[in-house]
Amino acid sequence: MSASTPGQTPIKRTRHVIPAPLQPAYQRYVVEQHGRFLLAINFIAMFAYDLYVFADALLIADMAMESLLLRGILSLIGLCNIYVVFWRYRNVLLMDMLMPIHDIISTIAWFELLKRSQSPDVPTFVYASVVFVILANLGARYSFRGILACSCAISTIILYNLWLLHDGQGKPVLVFSIAYLPVLLFSLFISWTNINEVRRAFLDDQEKQRQRDELAALNQRLSEQARTDALTSVGNRRAFDRALDEHWQQMQRNGRPFSLLLLDIDFFKPFNDHYGHQVGDQSLCAVAHGISASLRHGQGEVFRYGGEEFVVLLQIADAEELRALAERLREHIADLAIEHLHRPDSLNHLTISIGASTTQATRVQQAQDLFAHCDNLLYEAKQQGRNRVCAHVE
Ligand code: GH3
Ligand code: MG
Ligand code: MG
Repeated sequence: MSASTPGQTPIKRTRHVIPAPLQPAYQRYVVEQHGRFLLAINFIAMFAYDLYVFADALLIADMAMESLLLRGILSLIGLCNIYVVFWRYRNVLLMDMLMPIHDIISTIAWFELLKRSQSPDVPTFVYASVVFVILANLGARYSFRGILACSCAISTIILYNLWLLHDGQGKPVLVFSIAYLPVLLFSLFISWTNINEVRRAFLDDQEKQRQRDELAALNQRLSEQARTDALTSVGNRRAFDRALDEHWQQMQRNGRPFSLLLLDIDFFKPFNDHYGHQVGDQSLCAVAHGISASLRHGQGEVFRYGGEEFVVLLQIADAEELRALAERLREHIADLAIEHLHRPDSLNHLTISIGASTTQATRVQQAQDLFAHCDNLLYEAKQQGRNRVCAHVE
């Protein structure tokens, strides 16, 4: 992964380290992205190993039958191991190390054949053992330490058996080592590069995911802000328009009527004029909170329609129930006892008037009619002296 802060050129790293908290995600990533490769490489290695029976038949003909038997038995055991590791446990380290471990066993088994053979071709044929270390090293995708350990084990087995084959002579082992070492180092380097590349791809993937999550959270915040009234934190006018529309469509689908309350603070202009805009704002917040608090959870949605007007959408169909709820709201706001000594009537605290209607009112033919009907009822409430509810009755 490239580490950088916005505006900076990314720093290129050669070695990619996976932090401990990311290990479980990294293991899942390797299984998802490279599980098939690891499975395929196991079968390919097994197939290649079995094909070597022909080379055995040509170069160590006296061991041909033993070779066939040994390779057959080892392949069967290998197949069982593949089934257990890849379909049962699905452990990433086991998946990665299975082929190198099979390689170690195969190396031991093959040298047992070579040691028992009388063929004059054995000293030449032994050079084919480099295939074991190449296959083991190039197949790994997860653990470089694991592959390093397996490479060391395979190399020790090869060199030790070579030494035995040559009755403890040093020169043949030295000559073999000169040819073998570059192959070992080359394949180990490729293995390190492969594993490092997997880590880089994973860290890039994580970074992209983090950016996607950040963007999603930002979008979520923005869309919440777009629906929320900045002063009172209840839904805003835009959110109300959408909610009213949704409620209407839902009612057309399921036939269940709903209700609307339109609430307006009484004599709020003189309140503002005398107590100041700041106190006015605080009172708007108190009223908004008071309305929300007096509704049971999920009973209705509160919005600020604009200025000192609020609306409440309710899943209520019964006119009496609606009136009772509106009365409760009105009383609750009056009980807040927000001082208002500058209203022209006899009261001395802040009150609200409410227009309330359900969608069942005959004049309500579309969503906008419901709002207009509530607005008329609110006007009536104001005309009748304020601090009251005017609810629809057929
Ligand atoms: P009524 O009982 O007939 O509703 O009288 P009213 O004075 O409440 O009605 P009017 O429409 O004349 O005045 C509404 C006032 O609400 C005007 C303005 O001072 C106040 N107002 C509107 N929006 C805000 C706001 O965001 N903050 C504050 N502090 N005051 C607001
Ligand atoms: Mg008003
Ligand atoms: Mg008002």
